[in-house]
Amino acid sequence: MKFSISAKKNQQTVRDAEVLCISKGTAKAKIFTVLGKKNSDLAANLSALAQKDDKRRFQAAIGTDTPHRLSVWCLESKMDLDVLEKECASFTAWQKAGNEARIIVYLDGLSKKDALTLLPVLMKSAGNTAYLPNTLKTRDNDETLQEIAFVTEYAADAAFQAVFTQTDAMVRAMNFARNLSDLPANHCTPDYLAEEAKTRAIKFGAKAKIHTPDQIAKLGMNAFLSVAKGSNVEPRFIELSYNGAKRGDAPIVLIGKGITFDSGGISLKPGAGMDEMKYDMCGAATVIAAFCAVAELKLPINLVALVPTCENMPSGHANRPGDIVKTMNGLTVEILNTDAEGRLILCDALAYAEKFKPQAVIDVATLTGACIIALGHVAGGVMGNNQELIDQILNASRTSNDKMWQLPLWDEYKEQLKSNFADLANIGGRPAGTITAGIFLSHFAEKYPWVHLDIAGTAWNGGKNKGATGRPIPLLLSFLVARAQMSS
Ligand SMILES: [Zn+2]
Repeated sequence: MKFSISAKKNQQTVRDAEVLCISKGTAKAKIFTVLGKKNSDLAANLSALAQKDDKRRFQAAIGTDTPHRLSVWCLESKMDLDVLEKECASFTAWQKAGNEARIIVYLDGLSKKDALTLLPVLMKSAGNTAYLPNTLKTRDNDETLQEIAFVTEYAADAAFQAVFTQTDAMVRAMNFARNLSDLPANHCTPDYLAEEAKTRAIKFGAKAKIHTPDQIAKLGMNAFLSVAKGSNVEPRFIELSYNGAKRGDAPIVLIGKGITFDSGGISLKPGAGMDEMKYDMCGAATVIAAFCAVAELKLPINLVALVPTCENMPSGHANRPGDIVKTMNGLTVEILNTDAEGRLILCDALAYAEKFKPQAVIDVATLTGACIIALGHVAGGVMGNNQELIDQILNASRTSNDKMWQLPLWDEYKEQLKSNFADLANIGGRPAGTITAGIFLSHFAEKYPWVHLDIAGTAWNGGKNKGATGRPIPLLLSFLVARAQMSS
């Protein structure tokens, strides 16, 4: 998906459609200005239509020598983000259905504030509509949206430029993450994920280090390796680093769960829908993509991304229920259920993060089915050990309309993880399953401000519309941009 923004329509721009965005009740003069004198009859017609209290989009042919259609999109002023997202989704679907791949969108019929609100929402929606999974289909490749050229008198405005550039990078990041996530596990292996992360990070001037199984063992990441050893494919530990602030400034660390396929291991999952367990690496994909977007945008922060990645498979080498492993920070864990493997790989990454003396650590994981019971597919769960950091995350969630909801990590829940034979059990029973997973992780994140995002319900859609969503990249980027503004 290609976006551009300029003050004047480029006459050379090839386009299939032109769209004039106006607020309800926009003065006729404004429409005349945008369309030009040549189209004054049309402008009068459109203006009349725009005055009607009608939320439909209107269309008409523009002149006789231009075959493409012109539409007027009549928007409410000060729309709330949920309504605007729906409106943009139906708008971009409508353009796609009309086979209009390249469109020009005029924003000057809106107030500056409304235009600035619409711009990122429309870009995100267009990115969603334009997304084509990197399918392995050999025929029936769909046509889709390709390009939006925004035309607005605010093109040179600094706030507009910033929102445009950041959203442009965000859309690319989301589609990159969705492509990785939608790839099946026989293509997107830990090694593949590591190579993709490395290539993209280096492309944007960041550094990448890929730890091999021997190096992972040397680090003492026994919990992580215990999960990996059930599979025939090798694990990787991905470490990306970007220096946008002063060298030596404490970095923010992002950690993503990278289980490229989760069969459940010896505690095997039921067969129905098991194909969707290729999505158990969505945390990794979104963290890698958000990291690369920060490097692309050259944000003035120091950022590290850590991804433990492996498969969780049943075999003669796999973890057995009851096995006890020693984690990187020394705590021992009794593995009561081998399907609670995400926390076993994340705990070692959280312990590893200590060495960066980070100012904040955010882990992102498709961690618990219980999170879907609690919050459905609408919102993800937020937990952490620092309310100020949690509030910043919730703020970013509201700004980006990437919904998250806080769950508590009270001490009472610790009782559920007691084991007779080790320091911790890896599951705490059915009650509050998302919270006890968070409690488990909190034992490994005591040395820094930390937030855990459980995205099991929001990272992908199942059923007929099966596919990754790219969430929570909007939230992560919104948070990181805000932190960059705070520090600069
Ligand atoms: Zn699992």
